[in-house]
Amino acid sequence: MNDKAQATCTTCPYCGVGCGVAVTAGEPVQGDTTHPANYGRLCVKGSSLHETLGDNGRLLHPRVRGRRTDWSHAVQSVAGVIREAVAQHGPGSVGFYLSGQLLTEDYYAANKLAKGFIGTPHVDTNSRLCMSSAVAAHKRAFGADVVPGCYDDLDMADLLVLVGSNAAWNHPILFQRMQAAARDGRRVVVIDPRQTATSDLADLHLSLRPGSDAALFNGLLTWLVDRQVVDRDYISASCDGFDDALAAARHSAPDVDAVADACDLPVDDVARFFNWFADTPRTVTVFSQGVNQSSSGTDKGNAIINCHLATGRVGKPGASPFSITGQPNAMGGREVGGLANTLAAHMDYQNDADRDRVQRFWRSPGLAAGPGYKAVDLFDAVHRGEIKVLWIMATNPAVSLPNNARVREALARCPTVVVSDCVAETDTTAYADILLPAMGWGEKDGTVTNSERRISRQRAFLPPTGEARPDWWIISEVARELGYGDAFSYTAPVDVFREHAALSAFENDGRPFDLAGFKHVDSESYDALAPIQWPVNQRYPQGRSRLFDDGCFATPSGRAQFVAITPDQPVQQPDRDFPMVVNSGRIRDQWHTMTRTGRAARLWQHRAEPFIDVHPEDLERLGLKAGQLGRLEGPRGAFVGRLQAVAEQRPGEVFVPIHWNRLYAGQALASDLMAAVVDPVSGQPESKHGVARLSAA
Ligand code: SF4
Repeated sequence: MNDKAQATCTTCPYCGVGCGVAVTAGEPVQGDTTHPANYGRLCVKGSSLHETLGDNGRLLHPRVRGRRTDWSHAVQSVAGVIREAVAQHGPGSVGFYLSGQLLTEDYYAANKLAKGFIGTPHVDTNSRLCMSSAVAAHKRAFGADVVPGCYDDLDMADLLVLVGSNAAWNHPILFQRMQAAARDGRRVVVIDPRQTATSDLADLHLSLRPGSDAALFNGLLTWLVDRQVVDRDYISASCDGFDDALAAARHSAPDVDAVADACDLPVDDVARFFNWFADTPRTVTVFSQGVNQSSSGTDKGNAIINCHLATGRVGKPGASPFSITGQPNAMGGREVGGLANTLAAHMDYQNDADRDRVQRFWRSPGLAAGPGYKAVDLFDAVHRGEIKVLWIMATNPAVSLPNNARVREALARCPTVVVSDCVAETDTTAYADILLPAMGWGEKDGTVTNSERRISRQRAFLPPTGEARPDWWIISEVARELGYGDAFSYTAPVDVFREHAALSAFENDGRPFDLAGFKHVDSESYDALAPIQWPVNQRYPQGRSRLFDDGCFATPSGRAQFVAITPDQPVQQPDRDFPMVVNSGRIRDQWHTMTRTGRAARLWQHRAEPFIDVHPEDLERLGLKAGQLGRLEGPRGAFVGRLQAVAEQRPGEVFVPIHWNRLYAGQALASDLMAAVVDPVSGQPESKHGVARLSAA
């Protein structure tokens, strides 16, 4: 046990596992042995957190157009440019680009100010790049953005299917649970074009053609029906749309040969996977960015969910589809409505009653008409001059968004870019007209929600660096300056959390996201808040591990919806000019654009420089050698990295890391190789399928 008398228990700020961290002054951080996400374990990123602290490189003071200033002037400046833009061009000329790094309280305040008081719908978040396809798939199937299962299901499943997930590197502590399950004799199937540290665990690795996941799961649905292992009673009691989904599945994937052909897989491997899925009631299908970051990511998510609905395996112990998010608070951002197409507390623009409810609760002077621009469209609107003021919080779009040269051009053209960040020099702060120093991890207080709907506290154990302030405070000060002081009279994060909880409970006649149990929470209880899974209300005062286990869903009819899926190819296809397919993703020891993990020396030991994983046959064919610098030239930009011969890479396909920013490496942005192609439903960019030609650098 941690000595809780001395340690501050907080939450890791990196991935969506949401591990508990115990911090004792002057000592390396430790895992919180009481936190249900990790029970004391930390991966290398989490256990290096103390090495990333300190004021080196921090943004210490507000700056307006290059000059240091005080908070009062900075706040007046931000309010002034917003007021002027709204007066001259309307509220839609103001945009917000938020982040899954923000705490829920920060996210809530930003969303409320933008949508409820300034009246702009153009509020989106870097979570759009991470899991918005899973959000859309959940809403289509279940009627709400709900992950039905929990981490314990990973321990209880007899079959774990991982689709588009390198959990060994991206969710290491969850992966340790999967390893333990495998040691206990449970089966693991990994579906991923690449062989990875995760697929090394697999009893069966399906190295399928990139983008063919929907064909595989359509084929599985057909197989389940033909083998008569679907749960007809469950379907008839709890679901709609089964016949249409089956017809579409049968049309695109009539038998195992057709699936093997579409996915470029051995027939026997496909049949083995289908048999295992059919024969194993306790199956959890984990899906992640490999599914979501696609021009048809929402359909892929629904193709997976269709198979779970057909077998009645939703929200049951050891049996559920399970979207694992990338960021520490992607889920919290979804809860407060940080996505451009949602309101707050899981309510929707499209629903008049929801709009009315949010407007009345906030006493909003003019709720945004919405929905607003999703991330890629938002920066397009900046580029064409429609957005006059863009406020970016805790994220680095000048590195991470696709077609990055155009994003940088947009930032350079934007009349006023406001950036709130804890780091002074990033690729994005270079474009800022107004810079606002935000508190960092260890300084700020609030909550985050992890991939299993578990709300945990991030707690402060350090004083603020320089003049840094919490994001909710900065937003509230600007709101006051704009004349909305009554609605932003928060004095501490608990005030924001209490209001967020109260909104979730306001006229709640069955919405799954419900924090009624916290709508009167006091400071003491908030400070002591133990990790808990929503909903938290009168019926579930201790939270709830699983949802929809009773076959009742959040659609108006209460029934789940099958979605008919016609598999689509990735939009960008290789051709004579750009013959290689480019996949991009994370490495084990770095996080996002390295603005924090880049400060910990030992995290550089894993990979010291950008690289390009290439099949040896491709190297030989192109006259290249492992170890030399290679150059990937795409239609919109280039990436330079050290060539690595990787026999497990599919020929014709390369892999590059997403982390390196221009401060660490001049020309190694994976986003320069990716087109601004998005899923038509979710708006999530296709970051797993670019094209390029490879040569020596
Ligand atoms: Fe942090 Fe994720 Fe590692 Fe846990 S698994 S310590 S949340 S980076």
